Amino acid sequence: MIGRTGDRKMQWGGAPEPDPDRVQPGNPVSAGLLLQLVRRGTATTRRELIRATGLSRSTVTQRVDMLLAAGLLRETAGEAEGRGRPSGALAFDEGVGHIIVVGLHRNRAELAVLDLGGRVLHRREYGIAIADGPEPVLRKVEAELDALVADAGIDPARTVALGVGVPGPVDVSVGRPMHPPVMPGWHDYPVRERLAARLGVPVFVENDANLMALGEQRTHWRSVPTLLLVTVGTGIGAGIVIEGRLYRGVDGGAGDIGHIRMHGRDERCACGAVGCLAAVASGAALVRQLDALGKDVSDVSDVRRLVQQGDADAVAAVRAAGQLAGEVLTTVVSVLNPEILVLAGDMAHTNEHFVTGLRELIYQRSLPRATRNLRVVSTKLGESALVVGMVELVVDEMFAPAAVDAWLAAGSGDAARPLR
Ligand SMILES: [Zn+2]
Repeated sequence: MIGRTGDRKMQWGGAPEPDPDRVQPGNPVSAGLLLQLVRRGTATTRRELIRATGLSRSTVTQRVDMLLAAGLLRETAGEAEGRGRPSGALAFDEGVGHIIVVGLHRNRAELAVLDLGGRVLHRREYGIAIADGPEPVLRKVEAELDALVADAGIDPARTVALGVGVPGPVDVSVGRPMHPPVMPGWHDYPVRERLAARLGVPVFVENDANLMALGEQRTHWRSVPTLLLVTVGTGIGAGIVIEGRLYRGVDGGAGDIGHIRMHGRDERCACGAVGCLAAVASGAALVRQLDALGKDVSDVSDVRRLVQQGDADAVAAVRAAGQLAGEVLTTVVSVLNPEILVLAGDMAHTNEHFVTGLRELIYQRSLPRATRNLRVVSTKLGESALVVGMVELVVDEMFAPAAVDAWLAAGSGDAARPLR
């Protein structure tokens, strides 16, 4: 449909950095916004909150006391100041509740319980085939969640939310995968409704590469305005962070680069089309290519082993795959002009030949302006990027200033559940 406009909006994920205009003297600054300033490290003492907001000492004290009483902030003992008021450091109380994260990959599922600061309290992992469809995969997830909660010894009443990461595009407004190329049967499946009904907590569903991008940016590249993360494992995906927020596009399809058609290629892709980037440059594609050459390969780890052994065919294939990925990324980099390109996934971040091929193409083919300030780096979080990103996303949503203010206004209750 051409010209579809109306109620479609760009979809963003994660709260923006505190808006400087809202913390100008004279503007209303709520307790919820004070909490966000502390969470983001903008101000970590009462004195800094006064300076950052222009509020009076008594107003800051009254709002901080509300947050302390609600269990959302904690304060470490500090020096007596003035007439004896303590001035300890304030911090978000990350133990006030916990978040459960389910990371669904093509061939495995990871489940974790984390505190609100992203520390893993308990974790389990098992094999799946996501292509089996939502019914069997989610039935198993539900059973494993019960076991996870029991093993972790956590109080289910203190679960803030459940987050589910999937290897495909998601319409986050409804929590459903949307035409996911490698998840047959999952299109428009009500993942959020099903798991929310089962657990009785808010459920967030998000694309895996988006979560990884947000996790890396918030943990290691906080001051970087635009970050692109590309994950190359069995498949290929990308996540985009702009000004500290996830950029999802209009239909949640931003960054879905794995199924861009490569000129002159006709290899069949898992999505059903031919010539996709994922069909020629992913880990699965390399397995097929090397298998066709008679090599002993059955998964991505075999490709890595052959490269480590110095197998010339494997090295050449991996480097060529890196160049093909670089060809697509040259365009992406020209459009986005990011400062950081993070490479993640089995193929990209552990394989120097892939990275060499990719860098060659990007730096040779891009205009100097697009790459002058571009740094290509490896993931620092590795496999934990997905769960870290999900915690950031969930905490941003559940402890957004408006949500916290509404909850405080509603009176006392369970601090772990400001939205319920
Ligand atoms: Zn495809």
